[in-house]
Amino acid sequence: MTDFTRRALAATGLAALASPRIARAQAAFPSRAITMVIPFAAGGPTDIVGRLLAESMGKDLGQPVVVENSTGAGGTIGAQRVAQARPDGYTVLLHHIGMGVIPTMYRRLAYDPVHGFEPLGLVTEVPMTLVGRRELPANSLAELVALMKSQGDRFNLADAGIGSSSALCGALFANAIGARPTVIPFRGTGPAMQEILGGRVDLLCDQTTQTTEYIRGGSVKVFATPSRTRIATLPEIPTTAEGGLPNFIVTVWHGLYAPKGTPAPICSRLTASLQAALRDPRIVQRFSEIGTAPVSQADATPEAHQRFWTADIAKWKPVIEATNAYAD
Ligand code: ASP
Repeated sequence: MTDFTRRALAATGLAALASPRIARAQAAFPSRAITMVIPFAAGGPTDIVGRLLAESMGKDLGQPVVVENSTGAGGTIGAQRVAQARPDGYTVLLHHIGMGVIPTMYRRLAYDPVHGFEPLGLVTEVPMTLVGRRELPANSLAELVALMKSQGDRFNLADAGIGSSSALCGALFANAIGARPTVIPFRGTGPAMQEILGGRVDLLCDQTTQTTEYIRGGSVKVFATPSRTRIATLPEIPTTAEGGLPNFIVTVWHGLYAPKGTPAPICSRLTASLQAALRDPRIVQRFSEIGTAPVSQADATPEAHQRFWTADIAKWKPVIEATNAYAD
């Protein structure tokens, strides 16, 4: 480096960028713990997937990946935390379908929900289930629909706030059947499920990554899955199409993100680690026990993730506009 460049860089405060020490530090990425932000409460389905992933990626990266539940406002608080973090690879975001609906649902956000991130790869796509408290006086989707219509706003529905998959699923369901339940938002469906188990809330639409255990244990009633096909691990649950609601379909895709501007070699290292985690036999087995599967290695790439994400935003935009499902 010439004196001139050194002086010019010093004048702009960028001298450190030209230091060979920085180049070595990047080559050694990661040299300390990485924070994985989960935008929903501990114990819920996104948290369950995120913690499995964090543990496996930590082994591959040789540094711990520490989960931080940064919750609230339907997953936008956690997303904002990562969009505004230093783009150095030490803060990543594990989010879900909310990344596809939030850009349309929220007209005011303190971060850019479309351009604020580097997609690193898709993770998994999880079916949802409509589950209710055990004492709910309905034993089929048809009986549930009749009950919700007759009870009006005395019937209540838990969700994880506008922008969450449970809120999207709940709103699509209520619209499809013409019901107006009272919505009770939580910081994630982990806490919402506790209210269903305690019999204090009537209904919740949630991923199998949390509900499988409760459905199998008989501690909740299950009415349907809003999926195109029945769930291989819970084949007794009818689809919404079988119950006469063929257009009510929602599944929850998860993706991993870094803040926009994270250097390409660091993003590539994180993607490689995501891919290694998705090949990890422990993840494959645990995912299958909770009703899902890792995406293919080809889908666990920034290109496939970006394509899917862009298409998902376009897919939900008219639905949100038609149902006026805005956050403000
Ligand atoms: N399942 C949640 C949702 O409704 C979030 C969570 O707690 O994982 O988006």
